[in-house]
Amino acid sequence: MNKMPPVKKCEVESCYFNNEQRCRAGAITVGSGEPRCETFAQSASHSRVDTQAEVGACHVTSCRYNDQMLCEAAGIDVVVHKDHADCETYEPRQS
Ligand code: SF4
Repeated sequence: MNKMPPVKKCEVESCYFNNEQRCRAGAITVGSGEPRCETFAQSASHSRVDTQAEVGACHVTSCRYNDQMLCEAAGIDVVVHKDHADCETYEPRQS
């Protein structure tokens, strides 16, 4: 198995795991019907753990970087989308 890709940057500052636009979770899961960060946790306080999250699993099999629900991108960025967090690195597979 390849190394899990890092979450390089996360703009979702309303999330508990976000501190200085870095994700401080151990690993995140991306999924649902869109490339949504399922680890997002709305909070006014923030983790102080000095770590950089990785992508542990991704359910978005329509993405070109998805291989057997693992992410093969070099790294991902996460952005605000409406009221939640989305993987900005998502790219649809070429047909
Ligand atoms: S780049 Fe694609 S495979 Fe990787 S986490 Fe984002 S949506 Fe999932």
